[in-house]
Amino acid sequence: MRRSLTSGNTMTTSDCPWASIVPRHKDHEDSESACYARNTVAIRSHFRPRISTIEEAYDASGHLRSEFLETDFERVILPRYHRRAAEAVLMGMNGRVRLTSGLRQAIRTPLTYNQLAHRHPWAVIVVRRGRRYRKLCANIATAVHTAALLEEKYGNATVVSRSRGYVIPPKLRGKLPKGWMWCPYCMKPRKFKRVANETFYGLRKVWSDDKQRYVFRERKLALLECPCCGSTNRDTNFRRSNQPWEVRRVKRGARKIKARHKTRRRGNKIEVVVV
Ligand SMILES: [Zn+2]
Ligand SMILES: [Zn+2]
Repeated sequence: MRRSLTSGNTMTTSDCPWASIVPRHKDHEDSESACYARNTVAIRSHFRPRISTIEEAYDASGHLRSEFLETDFERVILPRYHRRAAEAVLMGMNGRVRLTSGLRQAIRTPLTYNQLAHRHPWAVIVVRRGRRYRKLCANIATAVHTAALLEEKYGNATVVSRSRGYVIPPKLRGKLPKGWMWCPYCMKPRKFKRVANETFYGLRKVWSDDKQRYVFRERKLALLECPCCGSTNRDTNFRRSNQPWEVRRVKRGARKIKARHKTRRRGNKIEVVVV
């Protein structure tokens, strides 16, 4: 049976259990669950645990506790925490540190939900004698600072994004020297290494003479790995970043754009040397 929304069913401010919780609560004619759906964040913010440090919102494995989902903590406090860290880096708190364009791009991009849900969205990785050492960081300011200290000490240190990949910044698109590829997690160009003889099928942009533009084709590709963070060329952001970008203008009369990568043929064996 369908209840009429208008006749005698009006909830007044005093009737609705959320009335005292939701700011500027208005009388409404629908149910309290409809009211909850409209005001979830306000209501959940009211009931979430009170905490004094950011860390308390995360469980032992570093994930945001469910009581904080869809609350002011997730929607306002965490983004502000990370925004301030980013501002601190840009304001030159770490003035001695030279920021790469990848790092600058990451600092200027608001964190995704996936990143906010992790206590340590960043890490600093140092490679020493073929081994990787990792230090987890709660925000970008700590990460940049830690990277600077470790770089001074060990000669190399990279800020790595742990829960989100970044595409290549516009100014580097199509500009990487041969052999270098954009790593979406190290947020810098890397020389990716072949993983044993593993291959996979992935989309690759290839030039079509017929269409006079790049088209995506599924190709068998060699599996490659970043020597620092361990991400592979199967990653979506890697695939987007390390393809020819359509910014190159084809001059009138040009018959062909030079392919950036080729499949090398050795005897009968086709060696894939591809992105
Ligand atoms: Zn209500
Ligand atoms: Zn990497």
